[in-house]
Amino acid sequence: MSSEEEKKESCCSDQKPIEPLLEQINTADFSKHQKKFNDALLITATFEVSGMDCPSCAQSIEKHFRLLPWISEIQVQFSLGKCKVTHRKTNEDVIGELKNLGYQATLSTLKKTTSPINQKNKTLWISGLSLAFGLFSSYIWETDEIAIFFYALAILIGGYKPAKSAWYTLKNRSLDMNVLMVGATIGAATIGEWLEGATVVWLFALGNWLQVRSIDRTRNSIRGLMNLAPSEAWLKTDEGMKPQPVETIQIGQTIIVKPGEKIPLDGIVTAGATSVNQSPITGESIPIDKTIGEEVYAGTINETGSVEVKVTRISQETTLARIIHLVEKAQEKQAPMQSFVDRFAQIYTPIVFGLAILFILLPPLLGWGSWHEWLYRGLELLVIACPCALVISTPVAIVSAIGNAAKNGVLIKGGVFLEIAGQIKAVAFDKTGTLTEGKLQVTKILASGGKEEKLLSIARTIEEYSKHPIGLAMIEEADRRHIGSLSGTDYQTLVGRGAQATIENCTYYAGNQRLFEELKVSLTPWSNLLQQAQSSGHTPVLIGTDQEVLGIITVADTVRLTSKETIEQLKRSGILSTIMLTGDHEGTARKIANEVGIDEYWANLLPEDKVDRIQKYQQRDWKIGMVGDGMNDAPALATADLGIAMGGVGTDTAMETADVVLMADNIEKLPFTLRLSRKTRAIIQQNIVFSLTVKLAALLLIFPNWLTLWIAVLSDTGAALIVILNSMRLTKVK
Ligand code: ADP
Ligand code: MG
Repeated sequence: MSSEEEKKESCCSDQKPIEPLLEQINTADFSKHQKKFNDALLITATFEVSGMDCPSCAQSIEKHFRLLPWISEIQVQFSLGKCKVTHRKTNEDVIGELKNLGYQATLSTLKKTTSPINQKNKTLWISGLSLAFGLFSSYIWETDEIAIFFYALAILIGGYKPAKSAWYTLKNRSLDMNVLMVGATIGAATIGEWLEGATVVWLFALGNWLQVRSIDRTRNSIRGLMNLAPSEAWLKTDEGMKPQPVETIQIGQTIIVKPGEKIPLDGIVTAGATSVNQSPITGESIPIDKTIGEEVYAGTINETGSVEVKVTRISQETTLARIIHLVEKAQEKQAPMQSFVDRFAQIYTPIVFGLAILFILLPPLLGWGSWHEWLYRGLELLVIACPCALVISTPVAIVSAIGNAAKNGVLIKGGVFLEIAGQIKAVAFDKTGTLTEGKLQVTKILASGGKEEKLLSIARTIEEYSKHPIGLAMIEEADRRHIGSLSGTDYQTLVGRGAQATIENCTYYAGNQRLFEELKVSLTPWSNLLQQAQSSGHTPVLIGTDQEVLGIITVADTVRLTSKETIEQLKRSGILSTIMLTGDHEGTARKIANEVGIDEYWANLLPEDKVDRIQKYQQRDWKIGMVGDGMNDAPALATADLGIAMGGVGTDTAMETADVVLMADNIEKLPFTLRLSRKTRAIIQQNIVFSLTVKLAALLLIFPNWLTLWIAVLSDTGAALIVILNSMRLTKVK
């Protein structure tokens, strides 16, 4: 129906002569035209919504909007307090509609989001005062009329907004806590329990207000990330420096960053030198020196010098913007515990609601008591039917935890992964670049016939296109000795074995023992030297053809300073086994394992062997995490229950593929991540058990007639508040 209207509309406007239209635009007020214009166009906008204190609010917003003909799509993200709408009217209309439902909304922009909309809750205080007056007057004058007047006033003032929301919810044929609370209040008033009614309204409003405030604080942990990057940059132009909004700056333009300023965009330093505090992104606050040719990232802090930076990414695509995007997306992936809770809530509310109706009708009809008495009990049940504390138990905990992690340079890509991380029993590490620096150095060159330079130039040629740290070490060493490369063709990488290239019609190989064994080349002349290299913990790289080995170049890596401490912390925090998986030979593996205190190590593994190993551990019913660089360990990372990649700042692939990304290039934050995850699991469990217990206790109190309406409300909003406060502890985990 609406599409027909739309067609008509656009046809008409097509036929309109242009001139009068222009005139209209000049004279008439702009918003009217915008409205007309938008009718033909779909706009998508994101709004910050304040006042959502429970995921069921999010659901009822979605439900309501879906029924409107001018809405084509809506997605409400409760934990971010956002809502994304694709619609055919103006953004003001969306905001107005949200207001009707009882929520304050503003258009959200990526940069500079205004911190939580400061809700001045006048109605809450006026209704509270009114309630207090009522109590006071009934005490002083001992007549009911004046007190009832104040109670009714309190109900009207405090209950107006929930009643409005309830009305919309009912119109959509669903139930939410507004409906339940309003129902309870009206019921209380009908049976003459004005004080109870007013207390219900006021406690409900107070609870909501406190909930909204505290949830906003958890949402801020993510909003804080967005405010990291400045909104303007000093653009270098022919006329000098000019401040420009970052959105308008293009790739390739040069910006100037002064000392003490935040870097506004990702780019490469083209002039000057400085040191940069990258902690906003990596969580690591040791300043890093940046000189010409090095990358800097938006949101990090330029500490000492003024630099010119050539922009490499536009503002929506900086590393920081992508982190924010991934963190926001992480909220959409529900944790299993959350879907359990949601399913539970979906059946719980209607059942208790039905029970309430039965309570109100059945016993008095059967003559088991007065209408008054059972109506009151039914109303109590109505209030208890609100599952708020329960549904809120997971999302608030998860948003707090993910926000905290992001601030510490750990990107967790969804609540699911938090849950898994909390159950990890064993952690497997890649060796090169994970436990070690991954910056290898050539230690010895042993060439047959003493032709060291020739050997190195062959090695350099083979490794020309290799991205393996071994290849890089060869090239570096050759550079140091001013040895160039030969002209090669047919470059190939032999995964887990080495590399090859053809030089003057002959194929040369550089690789490990396995490679030459597979080529059936005799290693006997070299066995002594190989033995020596291996026992010293260096990695021998054999260079040769498919006929003979021409020489050995040994390389060595240094263990990261932080590895040992990290492994110790992991063990202390209850990880049962730490494992190293490496393609390197036994000797080096043993040496490094001993040095960092790894429990088990497996050497000579091909990438597929690493996958097998991980599966073996999984067969023990262990959840296992795998830490790697995300580049050549992708299969193992994908197989593990939790794939953890390091160095997210530098490599895009790491950020996209892993479940958890350690933004800094080291494993230091791993124990923190696991601790945070465990704590999250524990807190979610506490929340669930607590909110269920409170509900159950309230249910049981009904029978000895000990429950009052206001206790019922308190058990609901109070429990929700406690659940939120409990979850907020996660923002403080260090
Ligand atoms: P890891 O990352 O666990 O160290 P890899 O699968 O990357 O293992 O490599 C395994 C082994 O294969 C290395 O220790 C090395 O001996 C050999 N190798 C791999 N790539 C190369 C290369 N480009 N040049 C020489 N040797 C290589
Ligand atoms: Mg590797």
